[in-house]
Amino acid sequence: MPHVITQACCGDASCVYACPVNCIHPTPDEPDFGIAEMLYIDPATCVDCGACVSACPVGAIVPGHRLGDSAARFADVNANHYPDSGLGDARFPVPTDWRLPLAPITKPRALTGAVPAELKVAIVGSGPSAMYAADQLLKYSQVRITMFERLPQPFGLARFGVAPDHLSTRSVSNLFDDIARHPNIEIRLNTEIGRDLTLDDLRRTHHAVLWAGGAPIDRPFEIPGARLPGVQSATSVVGWYNGHPDFADDAPNLATDQVVVIGNGNVALDVARIFTADPESLASTTIDRSALAALRSSDVREVIVVARRGPEHAAFTLPELIGLADGKARVWVDPAELDDVDSSGITDPTIAAKVELLREISQRLKPPGPFIRLSFGLTPVAVLGDDAATGVEFVKTGTDQRVTLNANLVLSAIGYRGRPIPGLPFDSEHGTVSHTEGRIVDDGEPIPGLYVTGWIKRGPSGFIGTNKTDSGETVAHLLADAQAGIFANRVAELT
Ligand SMILES: Cc1cc2nc3c(=O)[nH]c(=O)nc-3n(C[C@H](O)[C@H](O)[C@H](O)COP(=O)(O)OP(=O)(O)OC[C@H]3O[C@@H](n4cnc5c(N)ncnc54)[C@H](O)[C@@H]3O)c2cc1C
Ligand code: SF4
Ligand code: SF4
Repeated sequence: MPHVITQACCGDASCVYACPVNCIHPTPDEPDFGIAEMLYIDPATCVDCGACVSACPVGAIVPGHRLGDSAARFADVNANHYPDSGLGDARFPVPTDWRLPLAPITKPRALTGAVPAELKVAIVGSGPSAMYAADQLLKYSQVRITMFERLPQPFGLARFGVAPDHLSTRSVSNLFDDIARHPNIEIRLNTEIGRDLTLDDLRRTHHAVLWAGGAPIDRPFEIPGARLPGVQSATSVVGWYNGHPDFADDAPNLATDQVVVIGNGNVALDVARIFTADPESLASTTIDRSALAALRSSDVREVIVVARRGPEHAAFTLPELIGLADGKARVWVDPAELDDVDSSGITDPTIAAKVELLREISQRLKPPGPFIRLSFGLTPVAVLGDDAATGVEFVKTGTDQRVTLNANLVLSAIGYRGRPIPGLPFDSEHGTVSHTEGRIVDDGEPIPGLYVTGWIKRGPSGFIGTNKTDSGETVAHLLADAQAGIFANRVAELT
């Protein structure tokens, strides 16, 4: 039985390059790579060699015969991307230009041209984009990296964002630990650029500065009552249960039987899952101990995850929904939520699979214990309450029909945005540093020696592994500039 990619996939494409028969798609050079929710193995051409299993940093690939019940559905999810194999879903044809042969990867180990004997690169941040960039730079013997991280622990959202019960995904830290052990990299923790050192300090002491500081601001939740006690961002709750020092004082009010989460992306599902999980099942994870104690005495019985649009526009990914439906979580959808969805008009296989699974969940009995309810088509208009939140008033989207949900805790999970960085040109429309393929630009002109990668380069989208391709693009330009002699006139000053 062929190998299967499961929920933990974070899209770094390591398996693509390991596979001898090119049966894992989309590859980074295929158009849908950036928008795919995971990668998929073609069951008709997989030869079961197992090379991808060892290449995957998060243990997402399983031989088909060892798929447990909670991941069984992923065999179909993989196969349905290859309907032409005869094993997938023929309703969704794939583009015929998918099977491009992959060019062999050749990696020269020393840079040529007018490159300094020691090419000093400062990287700001130590999240996934920073670590993938470092990994690619360290393949070249001249490169010396100093990485600056404002927090006392490295790896950004891979440590402080990914949910504690997503053990496979969190194991990407092992890969980052390996990179951090390279002799040509030094990581300076507790060092914030802009507070402890300035960007100019880094520019004076390094040939190139690569900004990888992430996109740390929540999109504003601006409706009447949104500033009442009892309203907070899902991000602050994630930070709280993951032990992020910035959010140590943001313990949510769990003395409420209902919680409303506004927005239904993967972060909303993460929080809902943690709030409704058996706390004992979290005890062996990295969850913050005071958060665990608070969850043990929580009164929460129902977490209602509310989206403005219908089920066919759900922001959560299919792998996350499968993880919720087939794992230990208790989840339910009112069948009426799916009444208006016309499945025959859906042309995207991933959306079709999400709607099908939501229908299946809606046929289950409403769970008794703490559970997650997925709700759709409600636009929030006000948080209710005098001194603290008591509920949220919604309108059914596109109507003026009012609906009220009671809750003493209201969480906004409506996405992220980058914040301007002093000294760097900012594209306020996209909330990113202004750049062309990772070279920071001012008025369209590259600023020599300044580069950007990760969420602050492309916006807050994609998975941990998406940052690998993204950083690859930036690093390629940085190295090309080095070899073209751009940094040569700074050598005397810096060495
Ligand atoms: C709550 C949450 C859960 C997620 N869960 C998953 C998941 O399960 N699977 C998955 O594949 N993806 C997940 N993601 C997405 C993934 O975390 C991101 O794709 C990835 O972390 C982005 O990497 P980055 O390096 O751009 O930013 P970040 O991870 O945010 O790293 C930026 C780093 O820069 C540091 N920094 C910022 N400014 C400065 C400064 N001035 N000086 C020094 N240091 C600075 C920050 O402290 C941080 O460590 C999740 C995202 C969130 C928000
Ligand atoms: S088991 Fe081998 S052939 Fe199958 S997907 Fe993995 S690397 Fe490719
Ligand atoms: S995490 Fe990377 S290596 Fe693992 S299955 Fe996904 S794309 Fe392949």
